[in-house]
Parts: sequence; C-alpha cells; structure tokens
Amino acid sequence: MRKEKKLSLEEHEEDSHDHHHSCSCCHEHEEEHEEEKNWKVLLFRFLISLLFLLLAIFVKTSFAVTILFYCISYLVIAYDIIYKAIYNFFHGEFFDENFLMMLASLVALVVYMVSPDSGIDANDAILVVLLYQVGEFLQDKAVDKSKASISSMLELDVHEVCKVANQIEQIVPLEQVQVNDVLKIKPGDKIPVDGVVLSGNSTLNTSSLTGESKPMDVEKGSKVISGCLNLNGVFYMQATSTAKTSTTYKVKEMIQNASKNKAKSEEFIRKFAKVYTPIVILISLFIMFIPPLLLGFSTNFTNWLYKGLAIMIISCPCALVISIPLTFFSGIGKSAKHGILIKGASYLETLSKVNKIAFDKTGTITKGNFEVVKEEYSNKELAMNFIYSLERDSSHPIATTLTQYFQDRATLLSLENIENIPGNGLIADYNQKKVLVGNYKLLEQYHIPFEKKNEPGTILYVAYDGECLGYVLIADTLKDGVCEDLKQLKQNFVKETILITGDNELVAKDIANKTNMDCYYAEKLPQEKANIISALKEEPQKVVAYVGDGINDVATLLNADVGIAMKSLGSDIVITAADVVLMNDKISQINKSISIAKKTMRIVKENIVFSLLVKVLVMVLEIFLPLPMFVAILADVGVCLLAIANSLRVMYGK
Ligand code: ADP
Ligand code: MG
Repeated sequence: MRKEKKLSLEEHEEDSHDHHHSCSCCHEHEEEHEEEKNWKVLLFRFLISLLFLLLAIFVKTSFAVTILFYCISYLVIAYDIIYKAIYNFFHGEFFDENFLMMLASLVALVVYMVSPDSGIDANDAILVVLLYQVGEFLQDKAVDKSKASISSMLELDVHEVCKVANQIEQIVPLEQVQVNDVLKIKPGDKIPVDGVVLSGNSTLNTSSLTGESKPMDVEKGSKVISGCLNLNGVFYMQATSTAKTSTTYKVKEMIQNASKNKAKSEEFIRKFAKVYTPIVILISLFIMFIPPLLLGFSTNFTNWLYKGLAIMIISCPCALVISIPLTFFSGIGKSAKHGILIKGASYLETLSKVNKIAFDKTGTITKGNFEVVKEEYSNKELAMNFIYSLERDSSHPIATTLTQYFQDRATLLSLENIENIPGNGLIADYNQKKVLVGNYKLLEQYHIPFEKKNEPGTILYVAYDGECLGYVLIADTLKDGVCEDLKQLKQNFVKETILITGDNELVAKDIANKTNMDCYYAEKLPQEKANIISALKEEPQKVVAYVGDGINDVATLLNADVGIAMKSLGSDIVITAADVVLMNDKISQINKSISIAKKTMRIVKENIVFSLLVKVLVMVLEIFLPLPMFVAILADVGVCLLAIANSLRVMYGK
C-alpha cells in the first residue's frame, strides 16, 4: 500500500485533514501506530529474507534446498511488489516501477534456477529487492516528514479557548466556539477565531499570517484575525467566526487544495512516466538480445541479459514522480509563510513566467487613505449630508475615507435605493429625487449641468434633483516604498508595468510617472479594465498578472493569467476569484512571490535534469563496465533521496 499512498500524496493529505477536525488526537495516534507497525513488519521481513539468503549461500546440501531457500527469501521481501505489479497491470497501469522491479528480479532468479553456472547470481536478484524496499521506506519517510513539517508551520495549534459567559470563565474546546461568544485572550495565546476586541489593549504579532514582522496594536473595536499571537495585554474579544469559518481555517484549506491544481510540469512528468517505462523495457530488450545476436549467443548472452536487467532497475522514474509534487508543495508552503497564498501549483508555475504586470491604483499602488484637500459647495449642509449618507454603506476605499471625514460634520438622511455604479460612484433616491455622488462621468450620464474642475486629485461631485451641489477634492498618497519595490520588480522579474485605473487622466498620469510605469490607462470602467487585460494577453509570449484589491475589479482578476488580490482577507468573492492572495498590502510581496515561484521552477528543472543525467550515466556505465546490479538500485534510491532533499531547499532555503 505504501506506493499508492506516495503517488497520491494529495489525497492522503486531504483525508488526514478531514479526520483532523472530527477527532484530531486519536487519528494522529492511529497513524503513528500504523507507521510503527509498518516499520516493524518491514524490518521483520528484511531479517527473515536476509536469513534465508544466508542459508542459501552457506548451506550447501543440495541444489533443490538452495533454490528453496532463495525462493523463500525472495517471496518474503518481494511479495508486495509482485502483488502491486500484477494488480496495476490489470488496472490499466501496465508498466510501473513495481513491474520493472518484478521483471528484473524474477528473470534473474529464474535464469539462475535454470542454469546456475550462467554467471547470473540469485543473490543479486534478492539484494536488489532488499535495497529497493529500504529505499522506498526511506523515501516515504522523507516525504511524509517534509509534508508534515511544512503543514505544521501553517497550523493554528490552538485546541482550547477561555470562554466567558455570565462573568464565569470556562475552558472549552476550540470546536465549540460559536459566533458572538466572548473569549478571553491572555499574553502568549494565539487568537483562536476571527473577532472584534470588546475591551482591553494589546499588541499582536501577525507574522504567522501576513509574513510581516511589524506588531499590530489593538484596542476596543479592532478586528483581530485568528492565528495572530497575542504579545502582551489581556483582552476580551467577541467571536465573528467559528473554528471552521475562521481565516486560519480558510487559509489552511486553500493550501491543502492547492495540490489539486496541478502544474503543467507535474502533469508532464505523470505522462512522461507512462511512456517512459515501456521505452526502457524496449531498450533493455535491445541490450539483452541485439549484441548477442550480432556477436553470437553462445558465449555472452547472460552477460548482456544481466546488463539489460540492471538497466530496467536503474530506470525507475520515482525520483521525478515523487520529488516534483513535493517541490511545488514546498513552494506553496514557503509562500504561505510569507503571507502569500497561492491557490495551486499551476499558478506558481505561471507566476514564474509573468512578464507583464498590471496594477489597479486605489488601494494597490496608493494607500487608499484619501485626504480631503478641498471642498466647494453651493449648499454645504445638504451636500455634506448626501455624501455622508451615501458613502456610509460602500466598501470602496474612497467611501471609507469620506465616511470618516464627514462623520462628525454631517447628519444621516434616510436615502432609498442606494446603488453602486462601479467605476463611477453611487446613486440613491431622496424625496423621490435622484442624489448622485461620483466622478464627472456619472454627472454626464445623468445630464446634470456642472462646471468640470481640472485639479490634481480625485474629484467627486455631488448632485441632487438635476443640480450640482458642489465637489470634494481628495488625494491619496503612494504606499511606502512602492517606487523602490516596483523598480526591483522591473529589474529582476518583469518587462513591463502598467497602471489601470478608474480615476481621472491627471491622477493616473501623475501616479504612473512617479512610479515609473511603462504605460497607464485612465478612466476605465471595471469591464474595460478586464478587456484591457484580455488584450494584453493576446500579444504573443505574454504572461499577464493583474494586481488589485478586488473592489470593482473581480472580473479583471479572473481575466488575467494570474490574478493577485491584495489586502482582501475579508472578502470571500475576491478570495475565490484570485489565484494568489496577499495577506498584507505591500508590493514587495509580489516580488517575493515571483522569486519563490522562480526558485521552485528552477529546482523542478534541476531535479529533472539531475535525475535523468545520473540515470543515463549509470546506464552507460552498466553497459560498458562489469558493474553489479545493486549499483543500479543504489543509484536509483540515492538520486531519489537527493531530489527530495533538493525540493526542500525551496522551503528551508533563504
Ligand atoms: P481605481 O481602483 O482604479 O481607483 P475604481 O473603479 O475603484 O478604480 O474607481 C474609479 C472611480 O470611480 C473613482 O476614482 C471614483 O471617481 C469613482 N468611484 C468609485 N467608487 C466610488 C464611491 N464609493 N464613491 C464615489 N466615487 C466612487
Ligand atoms: Mg480599485
């Protein structure tokens, strides 16, 4: 069974994950127990097989007894290989690794039985299987351990929480936490579920989620995200999620599912392995029969037969089949540690090839914390009340800023039919008449006469009953370090950077100049943004990434080869639409993710080249030198273990 488990790491991963939540502790024990049993059974088989091998070598009573000892020794260590080879043969996988091993060892054994003096030794056949089994065991262990340690870095590791009800504190299992429960968080605790602080102050370390080491201060009203570490104060929080709807759970689930989304190179290796084995069998048949046919069968047939068998053994493709999915898993794990969620190996692969990258402006390149620079109204009070009452319910960064600004200056009016016009602004009804807040295009659309301002910044007009009541000029600032990050990005990874914004020409040009973008598109509606991305993709050899915050640009995220969402933990639609989700909002995260992707792909290639080279080398050596068969199996196991170790460099390298 071990082989199947290994070849389908993903499924194994998944079901252990499911069990986790029903009964995490006992399942783990069971698994440990199982593993220990496997390991003991294998050791036992190994020793028995070795014992009979020694008996066959040293007890020389009769040939029949020797053969019997060999057969017992062989069957004890090889029965599962034979079983799997036959089982797979009848289930569509004609030539797998087990089949190669079975064929090579069985042929050697049979030849020895038929003609003991032919030069082919039964010891070799058994030694090869013994070494193969040890190698398989080590590979399994290495893969399991690596996957477990990568997963455990992303583990929440909270099992119990302190719940407060009617002033009584009670320790309950994490699974029992419900929305609106009040929880007490002490210093050193991890936040168990998402929530809002009710009372108390503290500082959190968010690095496990965002990869950012800057501590975050929280006070009454602050949102807290599960998985963050509470550094100093005691505080009380109200749960807004359960264990199964928390951010940490979603993140973990996303990582688990990531391996389902296979990279092209992964698929390629799978297909490759399928055609590869028959080819190898053909090659070894050639080596067995062609030289003897040319040189005469009588003298050296067994010599070539032996070489052919050795080639069958060295050619097992396991190093690739095992190490490549593991490399992708490491890459995804490493990214997650830096607060970058990559939703599949295929996106990691695409990310490594990105050569054009387009950015949304608000919230992506700029902070999205607008400042009100200038206001001009014909009816101040009414205008302010309208802006406040409309923007209050919108989630656009502009809205958040304006709501805050007008909170203490305006009063809430009861508006009806509030509607968001993506890329333009908001509309509503007040006393059966239209209220508008948005850019000049919105006013033009409703044929409202107004004086168009030409000032540097985002201009929002407010209109009521067909009349413009004034405007607000707001300005955003660039994110810290964005110029440097974009410079690095262009220097190291991509050819072209592009700004696509719904904001006006003046602002777009200004931001594009400041950040050294290659070109910009201004005043684009959400659908136009998506179309621009499609057009960019049409150019030959272009792999296009789009970075946005998900507000008004979900379609654009979907259209890009890789859609990267920033700062969007709250929004489920954005998380679903994006291929890569950044847990913090720094542009440097994009550089980091491309760099990890490139490293992952480099290691995938290294493993392919390295294992094929070693195999070809050993094959050639086997043909021209009188090397024993077990050298082939040692090379096979060695290459596989080295490839696994190399895969882990993605995770543990710098
Ligand atoms: P970007 O993220 O590139 O700024 P958006 O499509 O989100 O693009 O917004 C484009 C423009 O639409 C904004 O510059 C603004 O003029 C207008 N707009 C969008 N949402 C609102 C809102 N809630 N209130 C007022 N204006 C808005
Ligand atoms: Mg936007």
